[in-house]
Amino acid sequence: MNKKELETRLIHGFFDRQQHFGSLSHPLYQTSTFTFENAEQGEARFAGNESGYIYSRLGNPTVTELERKIADLEEGEAGLAFSSGMGAVSAVLLALVNSGDHILVSEGVYGCTFGLLELLNSKFNVEYDLIPMDNDEYIKEMIRPTTKAIYIETPINPTMKLVDIEAVAKVAKKNDIKVVVDNTFCSPYLQQPLKLGADIIVHSATKYIGGHGDVIAGLAVGPEEFINDVRMTTQKDIGGVLSPFDAWLLLRGLKTLAVRMDRHCENAAFLFEKLSDHSKVKNIVYPGDPQFYQHNLAKRQMKHFGGLISFEVDGDKLVAQQVMNRLSLVQVAVSLGDAETLVQHPATMTHSVVPEIEREKMGINESLLRLSVGLESPEDIWNDIKNALEIIS
Ligand SMILES: *Cc1c(COP(=O)(O)O)cnc(C)c1O
Repeated sequence: MNKKELETRLIHGFFDRQQHFGSLSHPLYQTSTFTFENAEQGEARFAGNESGYIYSRLGNPTVTELERKIADLEEGEAGLAFSSGMGAVSAVLLALVNSGDHILVSEGVYGCTFGLLELLNSKFNVEYDLIPMDNDEYIKEMIRPTTKAIYIETPINPTMKLVDIEAVAKVAKKNDIKVVVDNTFCSPYLQQPLKLGADIIVHSATKYIGGHGDVIAGLAVGPEEFINDVRMTTQKDIGGVLSPFDAWLLLRGLKTLAVRMDRHCENAAFLFEKLSDHSKVKNIVYPGDPQFYQHNLAKRQMKHFGGLISFEVDGDKLVAQQVMNRLSLVQVAVSLGDAETLVQHPATMTHSVVPEIEREKMGINESLLRLSVGLESPEDIWNDIKNALEIIS
């Protein structure tokens, strides 16, 4: 049979419905442990001589279905589910490096990923360099004999700076270094880094994959050998596993990922046009903007331009906060990828721990707002924003 399109594979899974009373949706196996028929079976499962479940920290059928599905969607060999995005990032990085090793990291990664790198550095002497990933020669120069991984995020929050995955992967391959991509902002529907040469993918499934603002979860995809290693070491023994119920919510979320992403992207494109015409809005960053400095890379690497837009209001921090406070439909919250449109103020929220000088260099000032465009009527979202902008005289 031909491989089905992604839109279809999001909906249909792997399990045999007839083995589950014909259940249309995947059953929720809300259980901590699995009983053995007899002592010998328990012995055989522990010895690895018989396949089958033992205990839900080591595997659970609802979680397995999700893991098979994300591996299939990202076109990787194997998947693994975690209790949070950071659970995925930390288990993957811990499996890749030993004390004294080095990681090259794209500038502007997620705040807690940066926090984790600092922790690995101070506790285990793992070194890292944050570098712009737009120059092959510079990447080559920064590679050390101890470099075990190149870790990239694209696009990044909130400046939407992209990294050319294919270009970075070429340099990495030549030097036998693994490329890890945090694909949270795109989901497998908009961007498939393994096809571009990356080795391992991590997701905060809390965002677009869950899509309904009701679950914290993480996913990883990569070569079977590597994923099994993570499963049996930095996941099993550190313990950041996903609960069966949260896996079930993600299976549910995935079914609508394609239609949701299309709508997120359409709504964002609509708002970009409206914001561009507004006299109190400036410096909009959105990869779909034909003037955006990496627009061509976005077109090449992403299916559509995503659901995130950042822009500056004409005024200072106080004005930015007043605009946020006047919104009524749009909710003031961090996170992204939910049905509800969310706005946050990076300078005092997601990037408040970044020193001001660094923030300014990244293009994050106190006038900047970041929108995670939701699924509401685009006219309603725009009316809410337009009304809030009216406080600027
Ligand atoms: C949210 C996020 C994370 C962390 O995920 P959690 O599910 O909150 O642990 C990692 N990377 C990116 C890009 C994110 O947006």
